[in-house]
Amino acid sequence: MKDDIQYGEDYKNIPATSKESGKFEKLAENLWYHTVQIVNLCYVANKSNDDWVLVDAGMPNSSGEIISKAEETFGKDNPPKAIVLTHGHFDHVGSIVELVEHWNVPVYAHERELPFLRGEKAYMKPDPSVQGGAVAKLSGLFPKDPVNLGDMVHPLPDDDSVPFLEEWEWIHTPGHTPGHVSLWREKDQALIAGDAFTTVKQENLMDVTLQKKDISGPPRYFTPDWKASHASVRKLRDLNPLRAITGHGLPMENNELSKNLSYLTDNFEEIAVPDYGRHVENEE
Ligand SMILES: [Zn+2]
Ligand SMILES: [Zn+2]
Repeated sequence: MKDDIQYGEDYKNIPATSKESGKFEKLAENLWYHTVQIVNLCYVANKSNDDWVLVDAGMPNSSGEIISKAEETFGKDNPPKAIVLTHGHFDHVGSIVELVEHWNVPVYAHERELPFLRGEKAYMKPDPSVQGGAVAKLSGLFPKDPVNLGDMVHPLPDDDSVPFLEEWEWIHTPGHTPGHVSLWREKDQALIAGDAFTTVKQENLMDVTLQKKDISGPPRYFTPDWKASHASVRKLRDLNPLRAITGHGLPMENNELSKNLSYLTDNFEEIAVPDYGRHVENEE
């Protein structure tokens, strides 16, 4: 069953990178993040045993770097119990085939994301006409064909629990993609937001390169449903997170986070929704 897993047809390396690339840091107890070029992935350990889970799977060709951070942190003979995906965009599943083959572990994602992870359905074409800057313009090159993880990918449990992580729950945060999820740990109000919102203007090449901190909605070129996206941001704000790591940009904590997240929620139209671009008019 593991033999037929493969990337989409338009899978390729994307040269965009940032000055934070390669950074690996602890954000909170049992929670680390790793910046690979322009995306963050998380390594989350369980409280009561040595189990751990990888959240998202980096950019194309980053499996070597991810495996070596994993071995340094958790030991050579302690692979993750699973890989949980916030969603299936190429920059979040970029190395998943090599990782699944190397570790032979199951992948979990929201039920509504599964067609995009079983090779059945492609994402919207990235929208290079969207307002925002050079990354938006570049986004026409981004892969959009679905990866096929076959039988290795499973729906997340119905009870909101995260497999192998007793303190965490998943929260459905659609808009950026139909089955986008964020992960939440109530105990210390820690949030893994995926691309539900970001802390960098992901469309702007200079901001991405320098990782300039700026609260922002989901990446514009890849977001089809702004109404759902706004509702998801509101849902996350209402949790009152004290620390958040987003799919793109630097982590945010405490006052800076609550102020910025409220500001984004209350001014979502102005901050997040582009003034022009293909997907603005076709909101549901
Ligand atoms: Zn995305
Ligand atoms: Zn992303």
